[in-house]
Amino acid sequence: MKDCDDMQFIDLKAQYQALREPIHAGIQAVLEHGQFIMGPQVKELEQKLASHVGVKHCISCANGTDALQMLYMAYGIGRGDAVFCPDITFIASVEPAYMLGARPVFCDVLPGSYNLCPASLERQIRAVLSEGKYTPKAVVVIDFLGNPADYAPLQEICTRYGLVLIEDAAQSYGASRAGRMCCSFGDAAITSFFPAKPLGCYGDGGAIFTNDDTLAATCETIRIHGKGPKGKYDNVRIGVNSRLDTLQAAILLPKLEALKQHEVDDRQRVAKRYDDAFAAAFMPLTVASDAISVYAQYALLAKDSAQRDAVIGYLSDKQIPNMVYYPTPQHCLPVFCELHQYGETFAQANDYCARTFSIPMHPYLGEAEQQSIIDAVLEAAR
Ligand SMILES: *Cc1c(COP(=O)(O)O)cnc(C)c1O
Repeated sequence: MKDCDDMQFIDLKAQYQALREPIHAGIQAVLEHGQFIMGPQVKELEQKLASHVGVKHCISCANGTDALQMLYMAYGIGRGDAVFCPDITFIASVEPAYMLGARPVFCDVLPGSYNLCPASLERQIRAVLSEGKYTPKAVVVIDFLGNPADYAPLQEICTRYGLVLIEDAAQSYGASRAGRMCCSFGDAAITSFFPAKPLGCYGDGGAIFTNDDTLAATCETIRIHGKGPKGKYDNVRIGVNSRLDTLQAAILLPKLEALKQHEVDDRQRVAKRYDDAFAAAFMPLTVASDAISVYAQYALLAKDSAQRDAVIGYLSDKQIPNMVYYPTPQHCLPVFCELHQYGETFAQANDYCARTFSIPMHPYLGEAEQQSIIDAVLEAAR
């Protein structure tokens, strides 16, 4: 067993040791051919990702935030528009929409899964419509901490109000619900290859997914300065410069294979051991019976914020890595707290943020090391 002071929250070194050979060979191949921008590994990765999640198009880019920004640009979202998202997420979900001039509108989450609450979403849409200041345009649904949202009721609301549904699958690559892979829900989806995400590269990276041919073509031109049919000196719109490095694509190819072959299964085993160990002492998040989560983080809920703070203090003393995802709901962030919240009280989001904490979670977490984490968390609760 490793010493606690070596323990990793997400052990990227263990994965690197396991995939060392194919990763080195991939990097070597790129160094040899020298096509560092949009080289052949980028196309190969895009095709493999698209076929793995079961959509027609994958457009890779520089990071998950850019993927969202390019979608907002492609849909023409900007001043006067409202974009809805759950109150607990990472700011990147709506930050690019805000930057483009749109108004983020936060919605409460469901108890248990802490994914977007359909009833709160509909209340917020109606409140925005009755105020008449902004036009509802899009809903961004997050698969929170890798746990797929329930899309049927959310899609029904989007269809009824004529809104675009974007799946923010930054935390859920490899997860699925009712046999359908994350990154395939809604009108378009994005993911992130930030190193700590379930499918991470060795730097920044991201991708857009869609079955919509026109949207895919628009995102491809936006990705490279709004390039036209004759190339990047034939600009037809304002775009960005947001490409996935060929080196990162070469690193992702063997990592995608490992995720498909065993990492998603390994994550289930690790999560199951935690679920069993903590069922009596803490509340794990609810994963629906038809869902496979990838547990981007393994979160528990303490009784109250005092117990949560005591537990994380104890774990830190014992050098057990721990984090809080997320300490602050979006509506309370300094940058957003002045916004009118349309009467929503965010009861579930506030409660979640007060009580949540996360412990080490990754597919290479061995049983002995995991047992030492379990023991420490249970001791902390006593
Ligand atoms: C990480 C993350 C993003 C942004 O991804 P980057 O690649 O870091 O830009 C967007 N949304 C959510 C929910 C995330 O967790």
